[in-house]
Amino acid sequence: MNKQTILVTGGAGYIGSHACLELLQAGFDVVVVDNLCNSKYESLARVQQITGKTLKFYPADIRDKAALTVIFQEQAIDTVIHFAGLKAVGESCQQPLRYFENNVYGSIVLIEAMQQANVKQMVFSSSATVYGEPPSTQYVEHFPMAAVNPYGRTKAMVEDILRDVSTADQLAQAENPWKIALLRYFNPIGAHDSGLIGEDPNGIPNNLMPYVSQVAIGKLAQLSVFGDDYPTPDGTGIRDYIHVVDLVKGHIKAITALQGDLFSGGACKAYNLGAGKGYSVLEIVSAFERVTGQTINYKIAPRRAGDLAEFFADPALALKELGWQVEKSLDDMVADTWAWQTKNPQGYN
Ligand code: NAD
Ligand code: UDP
Repeated sequence: MNKQTILVTGGAGYIGSHACLELLQAGFDVVVVDNLCNSKYESLARVQQITGKTLKFYPADIRDKAALTVIFQEQAIDTVIHFAGLKAVGESCQQPLRYFENNVYGSIVLIEAMQQANVKQMVFSSSATVYGEPPSTQYVEHFPMAAVNPYGRTKAMVEDILRDVSTADQLAQAENPWKIALLRYFNPIGAHDSGLIGEDPNGIPNNLMPYVSQVAIGKLAQLSVFGDDYPTPDGTGIRDYIHVVDLVKGHIKAITALQGDLFSGGACKAYNLGAGKGYSVLEIVSAFERVTGQTINYKIAPRRAGDLAEFFADPALALKELGWQVEKSLDDMVADTWAWQTKNPQGYN
């Protein structure tokens, strides 16, 4: 296949900006659509600075069908990587309709615009949250979806919609059937090793790693460790942390797989993107202290509502079918987070 053009929805965001960088470096042409509701154009300016390559940016909302139609008319898109969405679990519990409208309706508008333009290859940002609380702590793709919050349900719904449009094409033996990879991310952390792009959360971070690094740099006084009485070796919660650069490389592997035999008659397949190994909150804190030489002020606090004790990926299918596995270590994740934090104490501001 000749050089592909990839439309990246949500490309200015944390994961999207890292994906744009890897895509440009791998030789793809990149078009971004983002309404900048949770990001800044500066991330894309830096991606172009690092790579020395340019991308095309459309400041638009994926719910705006007319805007998407123009993009598909102006650009010869081969594949869409669909990152655009709202992602805060707590906020989704307070504003469920906003989440369903943005994430589910927005995806439907995008899928319609793709169908209209006969662009039928997609890599979708799903999440380990679609699993809910399965019987085993190591999640396998065939486990049933049972999301326990509105955010997770938006991901499960979009997965179902994509599976159904793909099945319809297979039943109709469509000439150009949908080819879709649903990538279920575990816990992405870290930053590009240039320290020029990274995660820039609005306000006080919800997630562990940005919180720890803001404590380390003195922006926040103290980390609350949410629970030390879980049935885990040190009592704190265990998650499968994955370096954001490893994660976005999984997307490039998925784009390649969409061209291959596995997807040749049209298919919609889910893959876990995780390391297959978990770290506890206290292990993250001590790795941060060891790698950066900073002391993290923390206290043990009550459990956070809705948190599970432990889960991590079974990443075997992604290795077998996409030829993907993580390459970076926890020390890389910490060192790259810290480089981004110290070079950009105010994020992109
Ligand atoms: P992010 O908020 O940094 O990026 C999302 C981007 O989408 C932002 O730039 C935002 O402005 C844009 N956006 C949102 N709604 C839009 C709309 N209607 N139209 C156009 N642009 C819109 O989040 P991220 O961490 O980069 O996550 C990217 C994707 O990965 C999301 O779909 C998220 O749900 C999913 N995901 C993230 C994580 C994680 O921990 N970061 C884990 C699992 C899945
Ligand atoms: N966590 C914590 N303090 C914080 C934020 C998170 O102890 O300020 C814990 C949380 O309880 C979980 C782990 O860190 O065990 C990862 O939480 P995060 O919000 O980063 O990811 P998720 O809950 O989505 O897996």
